[in-house]
This record gives sequence, structure tokens and C-alpha cells, in this order.
Amino acid sequence: MSQKWDVIVVGMGAMGSAAVWHLARRGMRVLGIEQFSRGHNRGSSHGGSRIIRNAYFEHSNYVPLLRRSDVLWNELEERSGAKLIHRCGLLYGGLHASEVIAGVRHSALLHGIQFESIEPAKISNRFPAFAKYAEPIEEFIFEPHAGFVRPERAICAMLADAEENGAIVREGAAVDHWHERADFVEVTAGGITECADALVLCPGAWTPELARELNVPLVNARQVIGWITPYESRQDESNAMPAFFMEREGGASMYGVPTASDQGMPSGIKVGFHGDGQECTADSIDRVVRAEEISAIEKAFARAAPSLAGAVTASTVCMYTNTPDGHFVIDRMPRLRRTSIACGFCGHGFKFAPVVGEILADLAMRGETNLPADFLRQNRFA
Ligand SMILES: Cc1cc2nc3c(=O)[nH]c(=O)nc-3n(C[C@H](O)[C@H](O)[C@H](O)COP(=O)(O)OP(=O)(O)OC[C@H]3O[C@@H](n4cnc5c(N)ncnc54)[C@H](O)[C@@H]3O)c2cc1C
Repeated sequence: MSQKWDVIVVGMGAMGSAAVWHLARRGMRVLGIEQFSRGHNRGSSHGGSRIIRNAYFEHSNYVPLLRRSDVLWNELEERSGAKLIHRCGLLYGGLHASEVIAGVRHSALLHGIQFESIEPAKISNRFPAFAKYAEPIEEFIFEPHAGFVRPERAICAMLADAEENGAIVREGAAVDHWHERADFVEVTAGGITECADALVLCPGAWTPELARELNVPLVNARQVIGWITPYESRQDESNAMPAFFMEREGGASMYGVPTASDQGMPSGIKVGFHGDGQECTADSIDRVVRAEEISAIEKAFARAAPSLAGAVTASTVCMYTNTPDGHFVIDRMPRLRRTSIACGFCGHGFKFAPVVGEILADLAMRGETNLPADFLRQNRFA
């Protein structure tokens, strides 16, 4: 057995990297362990962009956490010197009483978040790309402070800053065993056993394999995203469009991020569906995108923004890890004193990564947090 760490964090995706970042900056001796490499494309945190927004329709309880996350994203961007956040705004569309529109309005009014309601008849003046929207939309809402974050860059920035503060990150090492003893925690990866005062588990879609003791029925769902290149050259219009989240009649909502090409990433408007996806396991997921999946993305986008309709020129597969109620799990592991977990981010967790890391650092060091995250405890499923 080698040296004793203050904290070991398993899984260097969004949440684990953020936990390592906070722990290292607090002077902890921290070891991060990742089975692949930082910024890899086999989990839930790849694809060049993740929408960030504050008028949270999923539940207004998330808003204080989002506000803290915003502060931390800015801090990370400043410290790293890398461009991580793009505030292009976000356009929501749907029926007045729908979960999305009613929920955005409720959160925005409750927490004083700036938004603009736009009648469908006036959308062509404001955002011409959506002028001929073919779904039954009663209201558009624009949230100007929203936008998107670069996930791979953000993960690398958090880990680089953590390493500058003394963290060690071991990549290409899969944890196959961990055990909490009375005075410490043991973790075995790649045949090497390490021990620490505390353990933080952030295994994403691999949670069912790594944290069987967690009594939460998690379901992984396969997600396909495509990058649309408009048929005609409408580069100006597609650059000027905001990110969007639109309800569709009889189908999962569609979201998208404007053309945001980045080194090593496809260019085009990134489009995906939120709220469907075949059940899968992290290791046996089908990573081949089928022709009918491409065609579904092209057709749905052509109904939303006919003037920008085009072909999917790149695609990838990603995973959601869903809980029964659509809300995250951030807590200590049941019946354990030294082990915490963050999982079940249900396809909307990335924007929270910095504040989740802060909560996890609190749990690892003090066993509790002052951040308002009680509504995300695992015992709600007991
Ligand atoms: C297509 C798609 C679109 C999304 N869009 C948005 C969005 O617009 N906005 C938003 O906020 N959120 C979005 N999300 C959700 C968000 O990306 C996820 O909630 C978030 O990335 C989850 O982070 P994580 O750290 O839990 O998982 P991951 O980032 O997948 O990290 C888990 C890590 O643990 C590692 N690991 C697992 N088991 C082991 C082991 N035994 N040993 C060592 N390492 C291990 C994995 O390799 C992986 O790196 C989207 C998700 C998808 C799939």
C-alpha cells in the first residue's frame, strides 16, 4: 500500500474534476483516478458544448446553486486564461402551460432572473432563424445571460489548476474495488491500492457498477447528437442565433447550440433531443449512429428553423444517467462516513459542475455542506 491521501476522487469527468479542483485549492492532498483520459468521449461530458442557463424549469431550488456555479465558472475562466463560457443567450419555445415555459417563467420571477417573453408573431424580428417554426408554439422566452460552456476545455482547466495546487491525477486506471474501513478508505485501481481519509465517487454512467450500495434505481440512456451544416450559406444567421430549447408536439424537446466550432470539434449547429434515449449500460452502449437517427435530427431541425435546414455532417453518442425523479444525487453514501457520491445528473448536470465540486469538497472534509443541496440527498428514494 502506498502513501495516504486526504481524499481520493474517482472519475475525472465533469463532477470529479471539479471536486479535485476545489480540494486541491483548499490544500488537501488529493488523488484523482480516471479509467480513460481527461476530456475523453466515452462518458457524458464530451461534444464541444453544454448549455448553461439560470431560469431553471426543472425546479427553482436549483437557482441558488446555479448562481454559485456562475461565480465559479467566471473564476475558472479567469484563472485558466481559456475561453470557456459563451453568453449567446437561450431561446425557449413551447405552450404557455408547458413544463418548460411555465417553469422558466416561475424560476425567473421567483429569483429575479432577466428574461424576455416574445409572441410567436414577433419572433421573426428578434430571431429570424425561428420565424417559420412549424411546432405549436404559444410563447418564446429569451434568457440573455444564458449560453454555453466548453466541456472538454473546462474539465482540462479544472484539472490543470488542481495539479498546479498539488493534486495528482492518474489516467488510464480503472477502479475495480473500494472499501471503507474504520479509519480510512481503500481504493484499488490497476493493481495498485491507495488509501485516504475520504473517498468521493463521481463515476457518471458507471455508477451502477461502482456504487452498488447506493439505493437509487439509476437508468442510463443513450443520446445521439448531430452537427447540422445549413444547405445554403447562412453563416451570419447561424452565428447570430442563440442556443435554443424547444418543445415539440408528441416528441422529446429539441435543444441546440449555434455554430461553435473549436479545435478538434465538428462545426455546425449542434442539435439533440432531451428526454428520450434507449436504455443502455456504460460499457455495452451502441456507439454507431444510424441513418434514421441522423434523419430524425435533420427533420426536427428543419421544422424549427427552415431557413437554416441542412445535413448532419458529424454526430456522436453520449449518455444520460437518469434518476426516477429527474433530479441529481449528491450526498454521503448510505451507512458510510467517509464516502460521498455525485451521480444521476439526468442530462442537465454540466452547468453545475463547479458548485457540485464545492459541495463534494465540503462533504469529504466536513461531512456536510452549507450550500442549499439538501433536496438532492439520496434518502429521498429510501
Ligand atoms: C448529449 C448530452 C447533452 C447534454 N447537454 C447538457 C447541457 O446542455 N447542459 C448541461 O448542464 N448538461 C448537459 N448534459 C449533462 C451533463 O453533460 C452531465 O450531467 C455531466 O457531464 C455528468 O458528469 P459526470 O461527471 O457525472 O459524468 P462523466 O463526465 O461521464 O464522468 C464520469 C467519469 O468517471 C469515470 N469512471 C467511471 N467509472 C470509473 C472507474 N471504475 N474507475 C475510474 N474512472 C471511472 C468515467 O470514465 C468518466 O470519465 C448533457 C449530457 C449529454 C449526454
